[in-house]
Amino acid sequence: MTNIVELYVKDTFVKELTNGYPLILKDAVEIPEVSIAEGTIVRLVNKQGQYIATGYYGVQNKGIGWVLTRKEKSQIDVKFFAKKIREAAEKRADFYASEDTTAFRIFNGEGDGIGGLTIDIFNGFYMVSWYSEGIYSFREDVYTALAEVVNARGVYEKKRFNVNGQYVEQDDYVSGEVGEFPLIIQENGMNFAVDLNDGAMTGIFLDQRNVRKALRDNYSLDKTVLNTFSYTGAFSVAAALGGAVSTTSVDLAKRSLPKTIEQFAVNGIDYESQDIKVMNVFDYFSYAARHGLQFDVVVLDPPSFARTKKMTFSTAKDYPKLLKDAIAITADKGVIIASTNNASFNMKKFKTFIDKAFKDSNKRYKILEQHQLPEDFRTPHNYPEFDYLKVVFIQVM
Ligand code: SAH
Repeated sequence: MTNIVELYVKDTFVKELTNGYPLILKDAVEIPEVSIAEGTIVRLVNKQGQYIATGYYGVQNKGIGWVLTRKEKSQIDVKFFAKKIREAAEKRADFYASEDTTAFRIFNGEGDGIGGLTIDIFNGFYMVSWYSEGIYSFREDVYTALAEVVNARGVYEKKRFNVNGQYVEQDDYVSGEVGEFPLIIQENGMNFAVDLNDGAMTGIFLDQRNVRKALRDNYSLDKTVLNTFSYTGAFSVAAALGGAVSTTSVDLAKRSLPKTIEQFAVNGIDYESQDIKVMNVFDYFSYAARHGLQFDVVVLDPPSFARTKKMTFSTAKDYPKLLKDAIAITADKGVIIASTNNASFNMKKFKTFIDKAFKDSNKRYKILEQHQLPEDFRTPHNYPEFDYLKVVFIQVM
């Protein structure tokens, strides 16, 4: 029998939590003196002791846990998890039926009713990501539920939380067929090599699917494309397949070179005809400016925070400066694809960064299109703050 702890919700937070806000913010509840174990079921009540919701305790960023249900009688068991996963999978019926896309998210945390848990599918293999020790304590029930709902070739997992403050390198295999990596997945007819058992990341960020498609279909033909913070070069692959005359991929990580070569190779693209640079993007900007290089399309997709020996970069603070550097090497009428996954600011704020960068550069611009999370990355109704992805296609005038 799981432990249940009653938590008092502060008056100012009762309404939101009653109406559907899924995150249990640290400030929203009276934290008892005795510490609560990760994975404890919490019963949220108002000051009068009236029931509001049931959730679990699991520390993750700003929250101490997530609401799981607002039905007092609900049990948090295999049946509960199976229902949530089944409903989520049914909402992805179009993705399951797709012939040219074989990797997508079938369960997106709070958007599908269980914060801290995501499930992706890669060509029949399921990858489960756990974002707190608390949610991980439900592991057995969740895997039993998953097996009831889907027919997995194999299951892998990522623990995206620290145990005693440390990231633990781990074997990510859980059950079923042992994958042979790289595994090749399809996305709108493009191939991508992924590895489900190689550290924190898989080789592809599925949330950028629609952006890759737009880049390939509408912005690449006969263009020179610069892909900064390129990781495994997924945007470069999309551009090359869309008919770009050249792609330049820039990433600091040494592994980005073999990984990018691999992504080109699995698409039948001669990687030797593409430029792949292992270097600091900020050094590349000065190099390109010094040499008078200009690109028709520049992709900017930095990590929220980056630290090098010389500097630290945070998107919340430094995005205007980064954009300014990009504007300086973008051709007239060229397009900058500006992206960020920093959840600490919204699209409106992001657009103020864009506006500032262009004002500081004495240039005009036009927003051509914008993207947020794709359909399979469902977010809770009425709470746009959980849609962290912001991508804006900007034409330099
Ligand atoms: N745009 C990529 C994902 C980027 S992930 C895609 O869609 O697949 C962020 C990447 O930025 C990482 O690969 C990391 O190595 C790289 N990076 C971080 N700081 C950097 C810097 N200063 N210069 C170049 N690359 C950097």
